[in-house]
Amino acid sequence: MPPGSGARELLRRLHDVMAARTPTQSKLDQVAVLIAGALESEVASIYLLREGMLELFATRGLKQQAVHVTRLAFGQGLVGTIAESREPLNLAEASAHPRFAYRPETGEERFHSFAGVPIIRRERTVGVLAVQHMRPRDYDDVEIEALQTVAMVLAELIAAAGLVDDQAAAPRAPRDTSPIRIAGLKLVDGMARGVAVYHEPRVVITNTVAEDAEVERERLKAAFTRMREDIDTMVTRAEFAGPGDHDEILETYKMFALDEGWARRINDGIDGGLTAEAAIEAVAQAQRIKLGSAADPYLRERLHDLEDLSNRLIRIVSGQSGTAAERGLTEPAILIARNLGPAELLEYDRRQLVGVALEEGSLTAHVTILARAMGIPMLGRARDLRAQVAEGDPLLLDASAGALFVRPPQAVIDSFSAQTALRAKKQAEFEKLRDLPATSLDGVRIELMMNAGLRSDLPALELTNADGIGLFRTEFQFLVSATLPRKGRQVALYRDVLEAAGDRPVVFRTVDIGGDKAVPYVEEKGEREENPAMGWRALRLALARSGLMAAQSSALLEAAAGRTLNLMFPMVAEPWEFQEARRIVEQRRERLARAGLPHAAHVRFGAMLEVPALAMVLDELLPHLDFLSIGTNDLTQFLLAADRGNPKLADRYDWLSRGVLRYLKLVVDQANAADVSVSVCGEMGGRPLEALALMALGVKRLSITPAAIGPVKAMVRSAELAPLRMAMADWLATPGCDIRRELTVLAERQGIRLD
Ligand code: PEP
Ligand code: MG
Repeated sequence: MPPGSGARELLRRLHDVMAARTPTQSKLDQVAVLIAGALESEVASIYLLREGMLELFATRGLKQQAVHVTRLAFGQGLVGTIAESREPLNLAEASAHPRFAYRPETGEERFHSFAGVPIIRRERTVGVLAVQHMRPRDYDDVEIEALQTVAMVLAELIAAAGLVDDQAAAPRAPRDTSPIRIAGLKLVDGMARGVAVYHEPRVVITNTVAEDAEVERERLKAAFTRMREDIDTMVTRAEFAGPGDHDEILETYKMFALDEGWARRINDGIDGGLTAEAAIEAVAQAQRIKLGSAADPYLRERLHDLEDLSNRLIRIVSGQSGTAAERGLTEPAILIARNLGPAELLEYDRRQLVGVALEEGSLTAHVTILARAMGIPMLGRARDLRAQVAEGDPLLLDASAGALFVRPPQAVIDSFSAQTALRAKKQAEFEKLRDLPATSLDGVRIELMMNAGLRSDLPALELTNADGIGLFRTEFQFLVSATLPRKGRQVALYRDVLEAAGDRPVVFRTVDIGGDKAVPYVEEKGEREENPAMGWRALRLALARSGLMAAQSSALLEAAAGRTLNLMFPMVAEPWEFQEARRIVEQRRERLARAGLPHAAHVRFGAMLEVPALAMVLDELLPHLDFLSIGTNDLTQFLLAADRGNPKLADRYDWLSRGVLRYLKLVVDQANAADVSVSVCGEMGGRPLEALALMALGVKRLSITPAAIGPVKAMVRSAELAPLRMAMADWLATPGCDIRRELTVLAERQGIRLD
């Protein structure tokens, strides 16, 4: 295609031809002539999808009697291959291709070289555009790019002319139509069936031919500025500021965003007559061809990044910047994303969101904890997820087996249904345990409390018959609000929680904001933390912003009027922090009492042990504590120096490693000796094998995700603790002992239920 004004002229003429009041056939005939002329090719043919077949609708150069006669199925011949693979074909000798299907009516035997590209609209293949030459020749990249640009514009024009019904008639034709299985890591157990919905949806470009290149250039410039600002904000946002993958991604983002070459190529597209969004897409398509076939995983990763960024830029330029949550889910959906923040997950309609699949993600990231609490199965670390799944693909998510089935065949659907039934049966068995105590075979009663953070968690108390709420994460209310929740709203939530719990105890934790739980209205502006998990978060932030802490204390004291308030502080590193926090609460209580306002009759104060050094001064703190709760999620990451959110470190983050277990034993023994109640409220306690290890260390109270109560209770009721405790003492004293293996073997021998 001629560059610059020549290209612009072609697009303008295509536009004019399609917009004219002439019969459809004559429009397409003229389009074929225009394309052949512009590309200096002997043949230009347009195949469009009709009744599931690719039909030759117009041609310049092939025999006219083939029009509306030559029809090819998806996958059949070169044209069908392009439609199926959604990749261009570039062949010096067409007949040498294994899929070449000779159609005598076309008279194409005279032509040797062939280049074709798919015509895609709304993620569906609606046709194929092909050019041919008599002389055997390879088409160069620029020519293929030009064909793609024309195909993109054509897609819109033929849709506007009503020539394709891409919503109803066209069968789905995603990148790969065959069923595939994508492996990943189980983050939240469960199974779900739904359609693929991208958290950041791909934008549909409806306007491809520009009226005024200058206007388009300005739009692009403004979009670039906005995108760079967004990326800068992302860098300073704590939830993105963690070390590891996010850093890398942001670096790549920045690299592309600042890449002059990229902007220049988009501007070239605008010079060629495209709108800003069409030009961005045209450059992305060209890049897809260059990098798509690269074997190098690094290059393919970069292609993802570029696609992400192109998509982001198109969304900005076209003003369609919302996530799928804003658009709303209309059917059971499995959300597809690279990664997700907890607040983003909360924006979705719980009734329609049945599963989540991420390219990243880790077991103890807050978004995972949240999904677990919400009972949404979640798969993480699914490589190439976004390259393999198209919006709207039917999906089966089997997080338990660490798999996502894309476009599953009937046999897989049947087996999936059978497994779902089996799970339901198992669930029914757990439900039978609802009214039975979690008592071991040798009579040790284990208290099983549940973790919660939202109003919607409360019905789980009745369903599971938990012994209470052992950790109420109060920051979730802050996370779901656009502004700081006023005291009245806090009181209302806490009151509802206490009411739902009735006589059962509830342990409220004061806000743990920061780390991966960034709250924009509380954050310190513009401060980027190198290590947010070890940074300005939790009690540190709360003590510095004592107004926040005081307001929350008043809300909690008021809500617990006339009853006992169990209150604990997150991330206590030194005893003075606990004392200071306690002082703030007591001051508030005195103030309420003086004013004659209702307030808690009694407050029990606890600390969370999450910072390893606290254990070394626990003797100083224990006399002041009513209870101690071990937050193994954070504690483990600090003990092992293994970021809880970094997927690369998932294997290193091991709750059953000897160092972690020995450490926990020291803490539990100290607390038991001081007669201070000790519990574990991290995710560790919700996994039967890990919970068994904790019991072997002497822990008798666990606070876990509601879905884990049934399985952990079944485990407790099938275990005999005395021999287990002895064995654990031995293993801890045996150098190099693989405790995970030993424990599994012992559990099997004892017939302990670990499912
Ligand atoms: C923990 O760290 O173990 C914990 C329970 O707190 P969170 O997961 O909310 O950081
Ligand atoms: Mg924590």
